[in-house]
Amino acid sequence: MSKEEIRVRFAPSPTGFLHIGSARIALFNFLFSRKKKGSFILRIEDTDKERSKTKYEEDIMRSLKWLSLSWDEGVIDEEGREKGNFGPYRQSKRGEIYKKYINHLLEKNLAYHCFCSKEDLEKQKEEQRKRKEPPQYKGRCFRLSERKKEKMIKEGKDFVIRLRLPENEVVEFEDAIRGKVSFNTKDIGGDFVIAKKDFSPLYNFACAIDDMQMRITHIIRGEDHISNTPKQILIKNALGAPACTYAHLPLTLGEDKSKLSKRHGAASLCEYKEKGYLPEALLNFITLLGWHPGGEKEIFSLEEIVNKFSLKDCQKSGAVFDIKKLDFINGQYIRKKDTDEIVRMCIPHLVKEGFLRPSFDEERYPPAYGGQIPKIGYYALKREKEMSYGEIYKIVSLYKERMKNLSQIGELADYFFKEDISYEEELLFWKEGKKKETIKNLEKVLEIFSNIKKWEKEEIEKEILEEANKEKDRGKMLWPLRVALSGKRASAGPFDIAATLGSETVKKRLKRAINVLKEG
Ligand code: GLU
Repeated sequence: MSKEEIRVRFAPSPTGFLHIGSARIALFNFLFSRKKKGSFILRIEDTDKERSKTKYEEDIMRSLKWLSLSWDEGVIDEEGREKGNFGPYRQSKRGEIYKKYINHLLEKNLAYHCFCSKEDLEKQKEEQRKRKEPPQYKGRCFRLSERKKEKMIKEGKDFVIRLRLPENEVVEFEDAIRGKVSFNTKDIGGDFVIAKKDFSPLYNFACAIDDMQMRITHIIRGEDHISNTPKQILIKNALGAPACTYAHLPLTLGEDKSKLSKRHGAASLCEYKEKGYLPEALLNFITLLGWHPGGEKEIFSLEEIVNKFSLKDCQKSGAVFDIKKLDFINGQYIRKKDTDEIVRMCIPHLVKEGFLRPSFDEERYPPAYGGQIPKIGYYALKREKEMSYGEIYKIVSLYKERMKNLSQIGELADYFFKEDISYEEELLFWKEGKKKETIKNLEKVLEIFSNIKKWEKEEIEKEILEEANKEKDRGKMLWPLRVALSGKRASAGPFDIAATLGSETVKKRLKRAINVLKEG
């Protein structure tokens, strides 16, 4: 590690799935490290034994990898493997390191044992309130004699370890987003607790030690941690650690400007993945939460973002999460992506919704065959027929331009995967169209279809338009045709649908629509 190397870290507590807000913190650290050609470290802050869970840790790593936010050092997999020279990178494995620093501070008289009970502390605060002083621990136990302290420890009295603070000192730091920030030690509660009786560290101590020992140069995190910063600086100052730069990012807010939560639809990253948002679109969207390089442009590749990224372009006010913008960006990325890839990504959604089932060549490969049976296509469960990849490809391509996320494919294109579709009779009428006229038009279409030789979109379109254009309003023919085939108010165009569905299904659906009207 060279002296100037920039080192940043993402330090999640594995107490929940990775959500948009924390992914944004990870992303900004990642961008900064890539821009500065530094190192990006993943540290797991699992000091809260009750709430920390392996499944959350796994989800965090999986989601970061899905977003392509690869880290250079830290915990690398759920088996506990790690990479880097400053480990362990899980706080739960760093007990000995914390103990060493606590002992060092005790030896130097920069920390001390405090035996005050809850009642003692309450009494001290009460007196301070009466004197109109801010409540703070002013070091009563710091003044205990060595003999008395030893005696109390021997007697097994309960204690905590507190850091000795300089009185009325101003702690100042430079925040890359907000400029100079300062705190007076009297406002942070006086000599604060850094460890419990068993020398297990409190959160701020563990965090400060880790940042110092892992040689973190820039701490980029949410502004909800700003009140921790003076305490962490005081701990590091007591140990003579070099100063580092801070950047406290404003919180991510919901559209109602309150802190983003599940209520705003701000689900975990894996939920966005399941809904069919593309990782590159989410990355682009999250980047724009509180950062913009200026100008109108909204779509940026990761490489462009890395090149343009700077902490000074981060806004100071909260970043508002706008799902419509995410949908817009995701739609742009879906459009840009290779259709084949989109089809492959849509198929699992269709399988999940019960429209398709992969089919295997079981005839050629009987059950006794030991290897993996090759997939030969898909079985459309609601049409009770095989569907080739090519057919699915055609259907998905019709919607590539319209999807906001890939999980919409089932809802948008269900009529291709169902044998029978249903609709209200009135939906077949164009504007104030009449039943008789609609039946007549559908019968005409059916007749044209019965005579078409080459079942191809161009041919279908030519024949139908020739007839439809005879009407003043060609919608009179095209609307009932489209509804008869799709059952929907909005769908792909009638010629695309007809060509994709095939002549038999098309004729069957038209006859059914005519019957519905005649019988209704
Ligand atoms: N573990 C903290 C959290 O998940 C982050 C602490 C930090 O970045 O300093 O909110």
